[in-house]
Amino acid sequence: MPEGHSIRRLADLHVAHFTGAPLKITSPQGRFENEAAAINGREMTGASTHGKHLFLHFEGSIVHVHLGLYGWFRLYDSATDAKTSVRLRLDNGLRASDLSGPTVCKLIDSDDMIEIIERLGPDPLHSSAMPDIAWAKIKKSKKTIAELLMDQSVIAGIGNIYRAEILFFAKQYPYTKGCDISRDAFDTMWTAAVVFLRAGARYGTVNTVAVSDMTPGEIDTLGPQTQMMYVYGQAGTYCRICKTTTLVSTVAGRKLYWCPRCQS
Ligand SMILES: [Zn+2]
Repeated sequence: MPEGHSIRRLADLHVAHFTGAPLKITSPQGRFENEAAAINGREMTGASTHGKHLFLHFEGSIVHVHLGLYGWFRLYDSATDAKTSVRLRLDNGLRASDLSGPTVCKLIDSDDMIEIIERLGPDPLHSSAMPDIAWAKIKKSKKTIAELLMDQSVIAGIGNIYRAEILFFAKQYPYTKGCDISRDAFDTMWTAAVVFLRAGARYGTVNTVAVSDMTPGEIDTLGPQTQMMYVYGQAGTYCRICKTTTLVSTVAGRKLYWCPRCQS
C-alpha cells in the first residue's frame, strides 16, 4: 500500500498538471458516473492529503480518494483511450489522469473532509502537525509500538516500510507496549517519521540510510533515486550496523523487519 509520501506526490502532481483549467471528468468504468457528471467541466482548485487520504478540490466539491492496496493513478496523453476499469478520468485536453482500483473514490464536501481528518492521527508531512496528539494515544495504549505506528488514527501516513525504518532508527524494540514508551523514544520516532516521509515525498523513493552508514561503493552510486533501507525487506541478511546479527521478520498483521540486537 502506498505510504503518505506517495500520496503527497500524487497531490503535487495533480496540482502541477490539472489545476487552472476546466476538466473533462468521466468514469469510464461507470461506478463514479453520476458524481463525475456532477463536477464535469469544473476546475480543480487544489489537492491536499492527510496520511494516505487524497483530496482533489473542485469548486464546491471534493473528490476523496484512498488507494488501498490495489489502487493507482496513471498519466496519459488525452488521446489515449481510457481502459474500461478506470474509475475516474481527469482530462485537461492535453493530459489525462486515470484512477483505477481505489478503495475509496467519493464525492464529498468540506465538512465530510474535516470528519475524515478528525478520525486520523497527525500527519508528519504537515508542518502544523501536533505530535502531542499521537503521544497521548500511545502512552495510554497497551498495544505494541509496532502496531501503534501502523494505526492511522495514531499517526497518519506510516505504512509497513516506514514503520520498520522508524523503529530501527530509534533502536526501539518493536514489541514494547505504547504505555512503556518513553517520551524521548517517541520524540525520536516522530522526528524520524518527519524526516523520512519528507525525503520520500521530495524524491519519490525511500532512502533512510545515513551516508555515514553506507559503504564507499554505495556512496559512489548515491543519487536522488537511490532506494536504501536499514531493515525493511531484509530478513535473513546481516544488519548494516551490528554486522553479526541476522535480521528477522515476524508477522504482526504484516511482516515486521527488525534487528534483534540493535533494537533490544
Ligand atoms: Zn543490528
